[in-house]
Amino acid sequence: MKYHLWTEGCQMNVADSQRVAFILEKMGYSPASRPEDANLIVMNTCVVRQSAEDKAYNRLQSLKPLKKQNPDLVINLMGCLVGRQDPSLLQTRFPMVDVFSQPSDLLPLVNFLGQRDGKYYVEQEVALQSLWLDGDAPIPQSQVGSTVTAFVPIVLGCSHACTYCVIPSRRGAEISRPPGEIIHEVQALVDKGIREVTLLGQIVDRYGKDEPSYPNLASLLEKLNDIDGLIRIRFLTSHPNWLADDLLNAVRELPKVMPHIEVPVQAGDNEILAAMRRGYSNQDYRLLIEKIRCTIPVVSIGTDIIVGFPNETDEGFQHTVDLLNDLRLNVVHLARYSPRPGTVSARAMQDNIPDCVKWDRFRKLEELQEKVAGEIHSIKVGKPVEVLFEDKRKGRWRGRTPNNELVFVETEQELMGQRRNVKVEWAGPWSMIGTLE
Ligand code: SAM
Repeated sequence: MKYHLWTEGCQMNVADSQRVAFILEKMGYSPASRPEDANLIVMNTCVVRQSAEDKAYNRLQSLKPLKKQNPDLVINLMGCLVGRQDPSLLQTRFPMVDVFSQPSDLLPLVNFLGQRDGKYYVEQEVALQSLWLDGDAPIPQSQVGSTVTAFVPIVLGCSHACTYCVIPSRRGAEISRPPGEIIHEVQALVDKGIREVTLLGQIVDRYGKDEPSYPNLASLLEKLNDIDGLIRIRFLTSHPNWLADDLLNAVRELPKVMPHIEVPVQAGDNEILAAMRRGYSNQDYRLLIEKIRCTIPVVSIGTDIIVGFPNETDEGFQHTVDLLNDLRLNVVHLARYSPRPGTVSARAMQDNIPDCVKWDRFRKLEELQEKVAGEIHSIKVGKPVEVLFEDKRKGRWRGRTPNNELVFVETEQELMGQRRNVKVEWAGPWSMIGTLE
């Protein structure tokens, strides 16, 4: 029996898909790279923007002939397209889908397969609920030995009501996972060869805030830093209002926590920030970046920007350009505003920035960031950087620096999971090429 997994969207979806693969392989399935070769297809969907939702619909359409040819093919629709709504409504819309699963919820699929096969997958269900108790790690058997990085969700859902964002309604309220569960999971991942973990949450720096008996993120990082065999720890995504001093100090002090912060600003204009309900101003964000840079030496900072939010004037957009020009951040993830059903911005504001203007602003920022990132990387040419190697693609080893920069090295040596010094020979805005020292 073979499964095919299609994953769209954020790192949380990638982590959810890993768990699906893990549980399916425990049930005897093996991976198929083409949907045509699979008995079971899992579509893990994203709806953060209309373009992602359209991709899911197109993908579903493309599976229709396969289902017609093979009525026994099982199709599982998972993730934010399903959200937290009643699946019976979706069933009428998508009759070819056999199972609907909310984000991060593997049980509907396990139960469906159990009923179909006349078995009750007790073992799998127990494993799902408490993977860490039996020391098992949510990494599919087919990937053990060939992967050294893993995502670990630590905060599920989101309770911050940004006016444009559909995620809270699709993933539900913020819930921190118990610290013991996280520590055991990371330990189990390390036992299976993982060397770097990235802790995930929509607002990861709120870890523990919903449960007074839990440690905060700084204390959790301290505990994870003690795990033997683990080399690197990252966390994302942070919200500017929750990046507390003790967390920044932990990044500076703990050797395994990488100097890499992802902290979306979304816009540089104060009126737009207020309309987005982000809870800080342009000046607040500038001060925060200054503080991060003062606290953590050689830190890399990534941000997210939405261009073309309702009522964003040329002048307002210029505030975003100025902010990025002044701060010279390492990475900028750009998006054009997309009204999402049920959000405050879609209900109460007009999507009044024409698409061509959104594109124009998008390209302006893309060009600016290409220049900034190129300049930041060019300073590294001729210098050594420390790289943890993850995999080999098209004959080149690929790894990342502590600052999360992508580095390629051409060599016949086996580098998987190794941390090596590399001399940078060439640097572009999105990656660097080097030779082993
Ligand atoms: N929770 C994080 C935050 O907002 O700080 C990021 C999570 S969100 C899934 C990833 C990114 O998608 C956001 O940072 C934002 O830039 C973008 N995004 C969310 N809603 C959007 C929308 N309606 N239109 C365009 N981009 C959007």
